[in-house]
Amino acid sequence: MTPAIELCHVTKRYGRFTAVDRLALEVRPGEMFAFLGPNGAGKTTTIKMIAGLLRPDEGTVRVCGHPMDHDGRQARMMLSYVPDEPFLYEKLTAREFLEFVARMYRLPPQTARSRIDRLVARLDMGSFLDQLTEGFSHGMKQRTVLAAALLHEPAVLVIDEPMVGLDPRTVRTVKELLTGITREGRTVFMSTHTLEVAEAVADRIGIIRRGRLAAAGTLAQLRSLAAANESLEDIFLRLTADEQDEAVETLPA
Ligand code: ATP
Repeated sequence: MTPAIELCHVTKRYGRFTAVDRLALEVRPGEMFAFLGPNGAGKTTTIKMIAGLLRPDEGTVRVCGHPMDHDGRQARMMLSYVPDEPFLYEKLTAREFLEFVARMYRLPPQTARSRIDRLVARLDMGSFLDQLTEGFSHGMKQRTVLAAALLHEPAVLVIDEPMVGLDPRTVRTVKELLTGITREGRTVFMSTHTLEVAEAVADRIGIIRRGRLAAAGTLAQLRSLAAANESLEDIFLRLTADEQDEAVETLPA
C-alpha cells in the first residue's frame, strides 16, 4: 500500500543549524500519527516540509506517492495543513469563509453546500456560523479552520497542535472529528507537546528530539521500551533528555 506520508532521510538546516536531521518515517492511510517532542525539537519544521511550505535541504517528502519536489501540485492537492495559529479573514462570517474556500477549490455549489452543512453539524458550529470571525474565541476559530481544511476532502490532514487552548467540550468535538476522518481511511498527522493528547488519540506516536527520531511505534510498543515502574511520561522524558545518546529506537510499523 502506498504510504499516505513518506519522509526519506529528510534534513532541514537554518544556516549552520540542523533543525531536522535525516528523518525517515512512513504513515499509512487511515492512521492517526502523533508527532511528539519538546519545544524546538523540529516538529513544525517537519510539518511545514510535509505541507510543501518548506523545502528540505536533503531527502524527499512524498504525499500519497507524489514527491513534493517533482509533483508538488498533486502532492499538495492530497493534503490540508492547519497551522497552530491559523489565518481567517476577519471581515467574513464563518459561513462566508467556508464558501470562499469552497470556491477556491472549485467545488460545485451543491457539493459545497452539503459538505459545509455536514462539517458545521460535526463541529457544532451552528451557533456562530453567521457571525464575523473577528470576534471568535480560539475554539471557534479552530473549528472554522478545521472545517475549511476538510472541505475538499483531503486524503491527509496535517495539523499543528490541534488541542492547545481548547476547552474540554471542543477537545472532545475535535477528537471525534479527527477519529472519524481516520475511520474513513484518511490520515491525520498531528504535532503535539502533550503526551495525553498523543496517548488518547494516536494509533502511532513518533518522538522527535533535536531533529532526530528518538522512537516511533504504537503506544504498546513505546511502553515496551519502559524500564520497571516507568510511565509513558518517563519514557518520553528519557528519550528527549539532552544527555541521551544518538540511538534511534524505531519499532516495526
Ligand atoms: P515548538 O514545540 O516550540 O513549536 P518545534 O518542535 O515545532 O518547537 P521548530 O519550530 O520546528 O520546533 O524549530 C526547530 C528548531 O529550529 C528550533 O531550534 C528553532 O529555534 C529553529 N528554527 C525554526 N525556524 C527557524 C528559522 N526560520 N530560522 C532559524 N531557526 C529556526
